[in-house]
Amino acid sequence: MPNGRQLVCGMRFLRWTAQYVKEILLQVFLFVDSNVDRTLRKSGPLYVFVCSGLTFSVAAAYFLFLLPVMLNKLSRPLVVVHVTLSLLLLFNILFNYIMCMLTPPGDPPTHKLIAGTEYAGLHLRFCRKCGCIKPPRAHHCSVCQKCVLRMDHHCPWINGCVGFRNYRYFLLFLFYLFLGAVYATATVSYMLVVPGFFIPSFSREAKIAVYIFVLCLSVSISLFLLLGWHLYLVWTSQTTIEFYENREKKRTAAMNGRKFIHEYDVGVYKNLKTIFGPYQHIWQLLLPSWRPLPFDGCMWQTADSHMDVSIV
Ligand SMILES: [Zn+2]
Ligand SMILES: [Zn+2]
Repeated sequence: MPNGRQLVCGMRFLRWTAQYVKEILLQVFLFVDSNVDRTLRKSGPLYVFVCSGLTFSVAAAYFLFLLPVMLNKLSRPLVVVHVTLSLLLLFNILFNYIMCMLTPPGDPPTHKLIAGTEYAGLHLRFCRKCGCIKPPRAHHCSVCQKCVLRMDHHCPWINGCVGFRNYRYFLLFLFYLFLGAVYATATVSYMLVVPGFFIPSFSREAKIAVYIFVLCLSVSISLFLLLGWHLYLVWTSQTTIEFYENREKKRTAAMNGRKFIHEYDVGVYKNLKTIFGPYQHIWQLLLPSWRPLPFDGCMWQTADSHMDVSIV
C-alpha cells in the first residue's frame, strides 16, 4: 500500500505529465493552425493519391475477386447487368473526378479584358490580397493564393478550389461516388448474408468483401450528408462561403424585423443553369460533358433584376 507521501508524489507526476502533454498538443495545434494553408498546399497530392488509391482498390477488388464469385453463383444476364452498372458508375466517378481537377475553377478577368467591355462602366472591386479585379461572388483562396470566381471552397481531395467552372464536376463526382458506394455496399452485403457465395466463410474473397463493405458503408454515410448539403446549396443558389455570410445577414435582418432573401437565388431551374449551363431536361445534367459554360462567371442575375443568365 503506498503511503501518503508516495500518493502525493504520484499525483504530482500525473499532473506534470498531463501539463506537459497539453503543452505539446497546444504547440502542435498552433503550428498546424499557423501553417494550415502551406500544409494543405503541400499535402494536396497526398489527398489525391489516397482518394484515387481507395477508389481503385475497391474497383480492382470488385472486378478481380468478387466478379468471379458472382459468375459461379448468379445467372449470366444478371452478371452482365452488374458488370454494366459497375462500369458505368466507375466511368462517371473517374470522369467527373478528373474533370474537376483539370478544369480551372475560374479566374477573374484581367484589366486588359475589362477595357472596352460591358464591365468598363461598372464599379469594380479589387482583391486586397492579390490585387486582381474581384467580380461579385468571387473570393480569395489563401491556399491557392488567388481569387476564384463563385468560389465554393478549397478541396484538398482535388488539390484545388471548387468554383464557377468545376462545381458541376464536383457535384456529379459526389453523386456518382455516392451511388457507387451504395451499390457496392448493397452487393457485398447480399453476398455476405446469403450462404453459398464464399466457401469457406473466411476465404480470401470473403475478407475482401468485408473490406469493401466497411469502406463503402462509411463513404456512403459521409457522402449522404455531404451530397445532401450541396444539393441544399444548389437549390438555394448559395456557395458554402455565402451560406456562412448569409447566416449573419439573416440574423441581422431578423433583428430588424425584415425577411432575408439571398439575392442570387433565381429559382431552381435557373440556379441549375448557372452551374451546369443551358439544359432542356433535368436528366441531361447527369451525362458526362466537357462543354465549357457559356457564361463568364462575373455578372450574375439577381432576384430583383430581369437579366437572363443565358445572355451573359
Ligand atoms: Zn485575390
Ligand atoms: Zn484554393
